[in-house]
Amino acid sequence: QIRTRFAPSPTGYLHVGGARTALFSWAYARHFGGTFVLRIEDTDLERSTPEAVQAIIEGMQWLGLHHDEGPFYQMQRMDRYREVIGKMLADGSAYHCYSSPEEVEAMRERQRAAGEKPRYDGTWRPEAGKTLPAIPEGRKPVVRFRNPTEGEVTWNDVVKGSITISNRELDDLVIARPDGTPTYNFCVAVDDWDMKITHVIRGDDHVNNTPRQINILHALGAELPLYGHLPMILGSDGEKLSKRHGAVSVMDYPAQGYLPEAMLNYLARLGWSHGDDEVFSMEQFTQWFDLDHLTKSPAQFNHEKLDWINNHYIKQADNARLAELVRPQMIKNGAQFDGAPDLQNVIALMKDRINTLNELSVAAMLFYRQPAPDAALLEQHLTDAIKPVLAQFAEQLSSVEWKKETVSAALKEILAAHKLKMPQLAMPLRLLITGQLQTPSIDAVIVLFDRAVVLDRLKKYL
Ligand code: GLU
Repeated sequence: QIRTRFAPSPTGYLHVGGARTALFSWAYARHFGGTFVLRIEDTDLERSTPEAVQAIIEGMQWLGLHHDEGPFYQMQRMDRYREVIGKMLADGSAYHCYSSPEEVEAMRERQRAAGEKPRYDGTWRPEAGKTLPAIPEGRKPVVRFRNPTEGEVTWNDVVKGSITISNRELDDLVIARPDGTPTYNFCVAVDDWDMKITHVIRGDDHVNNTPRQINILHALGAELPLYGHLPMILGSDGEKLSKRHGAVSVMDYPAQGYLPEAMLNYLARLGWSHGDDEVFSMEQFTQWFDLDHLTKSPAQFNHEKLDWINNHYIKQADNARLAELVRPQMIKNGAQFDGAPDLQNVIALMKDRINTLNELSVAAMLFYRQPAPDAALLEQHLTDAIKPVLAQFAEQLSSVEWKKETVSAALKEILAAHKLKMPQLAMPLRLLITGQLQTPSIDAVIVLFDRAVVLDRLKKYL
């Protein structure tokens, strides 16, 4: 039974990198019909906020990364951590350390001065035949993990391959502070154990924590999960992805007009590959996803590629759905829907050429506001020679069958009769009907409006 987890610290928004970690953990569980656990690592009381928890859950909901268990909150598991610490003190895998912070600092200073790696010197570490110092009056101890002094920790990282760390590199980690609150690596180890996590997939900023967590799990007699550390995501310039590369909060993407399926598909390819496949559904992804095709080198976030994928999914998306997504923005932009073309038809006409829903909501406005053509453009395109031709076309429009084909045929007939080129009529028509020169094909634009609206707008100038 495969069990994976996503374990964000709620200190801000859901970062693109975090979303990719969540996606891979989710997909791995889905691939095997396993369980995906959401765990909120909120023990950093100064930096954790309920708003951040909300933002993370909202981001995962938008992406559709639904968890099967949780959210579990570490702050609600304090009793459990205390219980485990009690057991470890009892079985000798942890011990009370009464060294004061000042003493520990002085110890480190000495070690640094001697060119050694700073580490706890073991003053309070019980050893056979060793007498511990007298407990200083009134001092509250920390609890330290009794890290093995010999040997090494080796794990076969599913992304990075075999990693070995000597135990001499590892300290006797503080697992509980003087007030009894447990510390980060300890909580993670206990949680992964209690939650029976089989695969820990996370960012490679946690590689250094892994040997510490493994040692704690060993001491607890726990079965080890497999670890996979994902290389970070870089910006286009090869630096760690940050705000100056554009949006890094997942929820900025719906705000900018990206579809969740586009974002998912894009993130899925960020550090994982399946041959040359670029565009695939989440069903396909969960079928294909494996840990063997994770890339060892950092992936670069490429906005052009995301745009391209978004365009792909917008083209495929149901127009009714797109209409609901762009309507609020259009209303904000002052769109008047009364008596205007049906939004779904407008979207059908325009969606091929845009990359985001925001672009779509802007482009579609040409159908939803009163045209106010620029005077200079009118002078240029609505010449005295063209006016009577347009009047004749308007006459035809009043009776022609209201379909793109018939309007197009009428237009061509008039062009031929007057030996004119398409733009000579199409441009002034665009100006008069929509107020702008850039529109989709004019026959398609005309028939989206009601006949009366088109005739009104033309007659105003003829
Ligand atoms: N809470 C950690 C973070 O947000 C993740 C810990 C883990 O995945 O083990 O970076």
